[in-house]
Amino acid sequence: MGDPTRPKGPEIVAIANQKGGVGKTTTTINLAAALVEQGCRVLVVDLDPQGNASTGFGVDPSARDLTTYDLLLGDVDVRETIQSTDTKGLWVVPANADLSSADIEMISNEKRSFLLRDALRQRTLDPYELDYILIDCPPSLSLLTVNAMVASDSVLVPLQSEFFALEGLTQLIMTVREVRQSANPHLRIAGIVLTMYDQRNNLSKQVEADARENLGELVFKTVIPRNVRISEAPSYALSVLSYDPTSKGSVAYRSLAKEFVGKRGQS
Ligand code: ADP
Ligand code: MG
Repeated sequence: MGDPTRPKGPEIVAIANQKGGVGKTTTTINLAAALVEQGCRVLVVDLDPQGNASTGFGVDPSARDLTTYDLLLGDVDVRETIQSTDTKGLWVVPANADLSSADIEMISNEKRSFLLRDALRQRTLDPYELDYILIDCPPSLSLLTVNAMVASDSVLVPLQSEFFALEGLTQLIMTVREVRQSANPHLRIAGIVLTMYDQRNNLSKQVEADARENLGELVFKTVIPRNVRISEAPSYALSVLSYDPTSKGSVAYRSLAKEFVGKRGQS
C-alpha cells in the first residue's frame, strides 16, 4: 500500500549489498535499461565512489563536474547534477572519488541520514516525469548506504550465487529494519535477485535452493545467468540490452524488470 503522507513521485529503489562484486552496478545499469525499454523514465544515482555506474553509462570522468558528492554536501540543486545519457528517458547523477570522503564529512551534520532523501525530494525533479530512481550503493553498510535506504521506497538486493552468499544477508536485513524503525518506516525489500547464476554448477543450485527455502517470496523467480556479454557491455559504455539484445543476459534483465514492476503492483 502506498503511503498517503509521502508526496507522489517516482519509486526510489536502493540496489544494495555490502559485499563487493556481487552485481549491484551491473543490475542497476541493466535493470534501468530494461525499464526504459518498457517505456519507463529512469534516473540512476551513482552512490559509489568508484563511479562504475557512471562509467558504464559513458559519463567521462572529466565530465563529472557536479556529482553525488555535491548533491549530498554541496547544497546543489539535483537538476544541476543530472546528466542525460545516449538513451532517451535515462539519466544519471554521476559519482567520482570525491564521494569517498562523504561518509566522514556527513557525520557532523545533524541531518546526516536524510541528505539524499531531501536532495531527491525537491519538486524540481517533477519535469523529468520519472517513474523510477535507482541508487547504485557502495559495497558497505556505511552512512552512504543508510542515506540510500532512508531516501528509498524499497531495497533490491543482488545476491551472487556463491558459497557464503547468504551470510551477509542477515546483517543487511537488520540494517533495513533499523532504518525502518528510525527514519523510514515504509522501506520495503523489493526482492532478492540471484546473479552470476551458473546452471551447470551445483553450488549455484544449492544457493538458489537455500535462498528460496529461507527467504521465500522475497526471491525473484528470475535469476541472472553468468553471461560473458553482461561483463563485456560496460567497456563499450552500453547496457547488455543495447550491446547484445538477444543474449541470455538481456533476456534475463528484461524478465527481471517485468517481475519487478509486477511485484510493485502487488504490494
Ligand atoms: P558490484 O557493483 O556489486 O561491486 P558489479 O556489478 O560491478 O558488482 O559486478 C562485478 C563484476 O562481475 C563485474 O566485472 C561485472 O562485469 C561482472 N558481472 C556481474 N554480473 C555478471 C553476470 N551476470 N555475468 C558475468 N559477469 C558479471
Ligand atoms: Mg558497484
